[in-house]
Amino acid sequence: MEILIVDDKEENVYLLEALLKGNGYRTVSVRNGKEALQSLQKLKPDLIISDILMPVMDGFTLCRELKKNKNFSKIPFIFYTATYTSLKDEEFAFNLGADKFILKPQDPDVFMKIIEKVLEEVKKKKIQPNMPAKLSEEVVLKEYNSALIRKLEDKMAEAEETEKKLRIINAKLQREIEERKFAEEALKESEMKYRSLVTQSPDGIFIIDRKGNFLSANRTMCKALGFDEQEFLKMNIWDVVPETYKKRFEKRLERIINRKSLNEAFEYQVNGKDGSVHFVEVLSVPYYKDDKLIGFQGIARDITERKLAEEKIALLAHSVKSITECISITDDKDKIIFVNEALLKTYGYSEKELIGKDISVLRPKNSVEQEELKNILTETINGGWKGELINIKKDGSEFPIYLSTSAIRGDNDEFIALIGVANDITEMKQASEEIIYAKELAEKSDRLKTDFLRQMSHEIRTPVSVIVSFIRILKDEFNNLTRNELSEILNSIASSSNRIIRTIELILNMSEMQIGTYHPTWGYIDLVKDVLQNLNYEFSQSAKSKNLELNFKLQLKDAKIRGDQYSINQIFINLLDNAVKYTKKGKIDILVKEENKKIKVSIEDTGIGISDEFMGNIFEPFMQEERGYSRSFEGNGLGLALVKKYCDLNKIKINVESKKEIGSKFTLIFNHA
Ligand code: ADP
Repeated sequence: MEILIVDDKEENVYLLEALLKGNGYRTVSVRNGKEALQSLQKLKPDLIISDILMPVMDGFTLCRELKKNKNFSKIPFIFYTATYTSLKDEEFAFNLGADKFILKPQDPDVFMKIIEKVLEEVKKKKIQPNMPAKLSEEVVLKEYNSALIRKLEDKMAEAEETEKKLRIINAKLQREIEERKFAEEALKESEMKYRSLVTQSPDGIFIIDRKGNFLSANRTMCKALGFDEQEFLKMNIWDVVPETYKKRFEKRLERIINRKSLNEAFEYQVNGKDGSVHFVEVLSVPYYKDDKLIGFQGIARDITERKLAEEKIALLAHSVKSITECISITDDKDKIIFVNEALLKTYGYSEKELIGKDISVLRPKNSVEQEELKNILTETINGGWKGELINIKKDGSEFPIYLSTSAIRGDNDEFIALIGVANDITEMKQASEEIIYAKELAEKSDRLKTDFLRQMSHEIRTPVSVIVSFIRILKDEFNNLTRNELSEILNSIASSSNRIIRTIELILNMSEMQIGTYHPTWGYIDLVKDVLQNLNYEFSQSAKSKNLELNFKLQLKDAKIRGDQYSINQIFINLLDNAVKYTKKGKIDILVKEENKKIKVSIEDTGIGISDEFMGNIFEPFMQEERGYSRSFEGNGLGLALVKKYCDLNKIKINVESKKEIGSKFTLIFNHA
């Protein structure tokens, strides 16, 4: 069965078509009465369902036209309208020949039942569809007009209502449009902000895919590495990061794929286009799209300067640690906060034993510098402190140090800690003591040299001038001199000549010993027979000339020794010479005896004696208790020094005992041969 739908509203047509087709009817739809009339040229529908108010030709006119036409008057005609206002419309419709007047909206089931009923009735009763009432044209027109006016009024009211609704909707839409516009602008602005944030960020911002290909790189990154963004987009991170980092990158990728530790910071080395080396700290997060891992979004902070500073600090720390000076750092309460290897080694402590302890642990408890120590911290805060101190090691041994301190200050110049650099100056001190000693020695030897020259010139000049003046007397007065006078003069010449010879002999002997050219002749010597008896005889003459007693006391039989006869002879000559020289009255005893299986020979005089102060210098060359030209004794100060050297050569022990104004006793101890 075919139904013709006449309605200008598309949605009505759509609904009717769906409903009718769903119930097994075929449908044809047109927009107004005129189109319906035209379509009827070709169609022969079983039913027409029409709206009333439509453009071009309304439903009433269509119904009227159809019912006038023989060919179409029998087709059942149903008005389906929402513009119903009064029963008069329905009545008018029937008068025009409509079969049914259905009001919109209608329940679909009810609607279908009405349609089926109309079709069935037409079919069953085999009756003709409703025919128009026989009304005069004037009445029809009048009713038609009033029906249309009603409808139009109704439609206008409806239109007004619709317009009102439309206005509300329009205002709502307007608001929505504005809101959307505002949201779009906000989005645009936020995107701009985000873009400028990314562009102007002082950190490098980039995106890479899973293979490391760059998907974006911000301006900072381009500038730092010297590539432009287009170049970056053709590059891979392994074009700028050394491949040694590849393993780490792959591990990280694996962790991210396994959803472990999503954001971690790593340090990488990055090479710029010009080969410059940068160190960056990269914080990267995985970049997902539709839950699929695309790659990483990363922020790279240039830490080259920090890295270099860190390296510098590490180098400094290493230097401080390994420097040979002892370094300590203490806080404002003198507590140790750092010590280096050298300090631990020097003081014998472990780091654990010192950190946190008071610095006084390194100083002796009863230090004499206590007062000074108290000032170190204050003086360091005011500039620095330098000086020598005594410190103590863990084993309790004390040693000298040279300490130099300075203040470590913070950014605001506030005192943070005290750094002390100490050197163990034990060796330096010893060396300086040795230098001082050597200097004193040099000064002394210089003094001695001057004394020696003065003494020598005196020792040679005096006898020479004696000889010269006596020879002049001999020359001038020879014939007038008595025999005694002549003998006295010749004796003086002889004694003066001996004095010169003795002096020269001593100088030569001493220099031989000093430079090591003296060659001893070792042999067995009988001290008494080979040495002392001869000397006793020789010195008895000079003792006699000074009215001194010279006693030779022999208390042992065997006085045989082994030694060098010349030097041993010289030892006794010098000792006896001094004994006679420094004794004005009294006696000189030469005693030879046996004691503790040793041979002891002592030469004791009753002379001027030697003071305790001088005793220590007695064997030093050129040392004389009484000095200068006013000296009342002859001599050059070499005798006893030579005696000592000869004793050492012959392994003879020599002792001296003496008392001022009482006398002196020189004892020689020999081993038996
Ligand atoms: P000198 O040529 O001056 O005697 P020596 O070396 O022999 O030099 O003696 C050094 C000094 O020791 C003497 O100058 C003297 O002061 C003192 N001396 C040496 N022997 C005696 C002694 N027997 N009695 C007193 N003083 C002595």
